[in-house]
Amino acid sequence: MPTGFETPTDSTGIRPLKHTATRSLVTGGAGFIGTHLCEALLARGHEVICLDNFSTGRESNIAHLRGDPAFTLLCRDVTQALQIEVDEIYNLACPASPAHYARDPVQTVKTSVLGTLNLLELARSTGARLLQTSTSEVYGDPIMHPQTEDYWGHVNPIGPRACYDEGKRCAETLIFDFRRLYGLPVKVARLFNVYGPGMSPGDGRVVSNFAMQALSGEPVTIYGDGQQTRSFCFVSDMIRALIAFMATPPEVTGPLNLGNPAEMRVLDLAETVLRLSGSRSGLAFRPLPCDDPVQRRPDITRARRLLGWAPAVGLEEGLRATLAYFAGQCEPAPIPALR
Ligand code: NAD
Ligand code: UDP
Repeated sequence: MPTGFETPTDSTGIRPLKHTATRSLVTGGAGFIGTHLCEALLARGHEVICLDNFSTGRESNIAHLRGDPAFTLLCRDVTQALQIEVDEIYNLACPASPAHYARDPVQTVKTSVLGTLNLLELARSTGARLLQTSTSEVYGDPIMHPQTEDYWGHVNPIGPRACYDEGKRCAETLIFDFRRLYGLPVKVARLFNVYGPGMSPGDGRVVSNFAMQALSGEPVTIYGDGQQTRSFCFVSDMIRALIAFMATPPEVTGPLNLGNPAEMRVLDLAETVLRLSGSRSGLAFRPLPCDDPVQRRPDITRARRLLGWAPAVGLEEGLRATLAYFAGQCEPAPIPALR
């Protein structure tokens, strides 16, 4: 394997690797999951380089990390080639909310395909391990239920979700081609609906929408009849799984489903959020978005076996923590004191 670079080879200003600590690159590190991952890696003594273009991530998410000497922020786009020394790469850069990825579908495809290609080249030149956060959306609107990793999926390649689904599928293709061609130590995790504190209140996903609507007394918007199902995984469980997966031997490549198999109807999620928040909001039914999957639930047998991992946070416990976080987001900004 190449030994890596002795000096920074671009304008990032990242100093050469000293190998005193594991150096982790987290792309999309200013996003919802990325922020938790950066925090967890720093807590484990890693040096963390967070790369983000802030298209959906927020500076406020990582403001508390900026003073940590082990933390470096690179404001750039993953579609640009990158030459830095790293030991491991977590690729999270990609909008994940349907409202976000549909806003600029061409950029979404580029982010998954060109971004992953750039990171594979970086992994190839440095010998770094690469973990890709792929998605349950690679199964599309699944006919097989629950979904196991060997199910090839049921994706509309020309619909409005395709920029995300097919972008992530192509990224997986590239990763396994690099594995076959160059023997890279790669890992593909397929994440199923993650939620928790740190989600952006306006990102349009179901948990953030329901929480913000319930807390502000607005009607809770149910798309379609609410009979469609999802399986929600609390963010701390996901972070444990991602870090455990990265630590597995090189022959453990996945794909690996990561999620909480507790499946529920969207309508039941709405009722649970209303009950836990004590809200008197009503329900407002809206049209179901095109190609919205009818049912989704991960089979996590493989993750249990390979990682010794299982989700530990139940939905009510996770939703309580999430609602407490969103309640803080709803509070009006303090009025500055008069001088
Ligand atoms: P998020 O939108 O909060 O975070 C994505 C981050 O990537 C943001 O900070 C954004 O600014 C950054 N980004 C987007 N395009 C970029 C680009 N071209 N260059 C650099 N940075 C870019 O989403 P999230 O929920 O934290 O998801 C993180 C990753 O996990 C995504 O790759 C997503 O596909 C995957 N995933 C998430 C879920 C989930 O339920 N949250 C489920 C499946 C997969
Ligand atoms: N959804 C809903 N109301 C909302 C937002 C989403 O009923 O305000 C539904 C959406 O149609 C989907 C499910 O909730 O069936 C999960 O949506 P989300 O965007 O969170 O994730 P994804 O569809 O990518 O799983």
